[in-house]
Amino acid sequence: MIRAEGLTRKFGDVVAVEGLSFEVRKGEIVALLGPNGAGKTTTVRMLSCLIAPTAGRAWVDGHGIHEDPEEVRAVVGALTETPGLYKRLSAWHNLRFFAELYGVPDAGARIERYLRFFGLWERRDEPVATYSKGMRQKLALARALIHEPKVLLLDEPTAGLDPESARAVRDFIAELRSEGRAILLCTHNLPEAERVCDRIMLLKTRLIAEGTPEELKRRLFGTRVVVELANPAPELARDLDVPGVKALQVSQGRLYVEVEDPRRTNPILVRKLVELGAEIISVREEEATLEDVYHELMEEADAAG
Ligand code: ATP
Repeated sequence: MIRAEGLTRKFGDVVAVEGLSFEVRKGEIVALLGPNGAGKTTTVRMLSCLIAPTAGRAWVDGHGIHEDPEEVRAVVGALTETPGLYKRLSAWHNLRFFAELYGVPDAGARIERYLRFFGLWERRDEPVATYSKGMRQKLALARALIHEPKVLLLDEPTAGLDPESARAVRDFIAELRSEGRAILLCTHNLPEAERVCDRIMLLKTRLIAEGTPEELKRRLFGTRVVVELANPAPELARDLDVPGVKALQVSQGRLYVEVEDPRRTNPILVRKLVELGAEIISVREEEATLEDVYHELMEEADAAG
């Protein structure tokens, strides 16, 4: 649904995005993660034909952003930092305006559905200028969805929302996926990315890494097995020789073992420990978090310059 090849955008001497290639398939949510200034918004703006790339190409639902910008705009729903709502108009009139712009049939029913879903129905006739930040964010989302786009480009969709509303929006995004839409989601909220997204792309001007959260964690850290011992002894770390163990360390009554494949290694590990006289209280797996992955990869990218 979304395909980018070598997308690059410069602003004068500043390279905002360089050589970005990726795909987002139908029914998939992909997170674009990266620090401030990494090029996330620039990517969304290029894909929604708001700005042109300096180099590279991209297609949305088969339409080239260079060749068919009108078709691209028709299939894309974009939520950007500046959603372009008319502050003097009411929520109802804003949505009515955008629905007419897109030629949405039966707009009234659809507008009501979204206003009710986002809890704005009672306030629908008030000017948007009187809305709170979160209410405006919800209205901006409704605006992005009003023409039932096949592709959604969402820049920080839960920013400014209270926890309850943020959860409702996350659930809603998951529902949009199950309807077969392709969703690119920019966020700084790592637990959100992990919970909602099928794949993660880490961006820092260039694409640094890409994969499911599990793949990224495994690729970087393997799995950490924590063995709690009644008789911890530093020699254990020295004497233990188990294939598939990447690193191990004894600390505060526990043995921390990094393994590539816990299903294969754990049984051997436990047997060897018992043979060495260890009294095992418990064995559990401890996963790295997406935050660990993020910091590790960003540090590597910094070190690589
Ligand atoms: P944030 O997380 O802070 O929203 P981002 O990843 O969305 O950041 P972008 O807004 O895409 O980052 O910015 C990428 C780079 O491009 C930054 O260095 C920014 O200053 C620059 N940039 C973006 N838009 C413009 C513009 N219109 N003119 C000049 N520079 C720009």
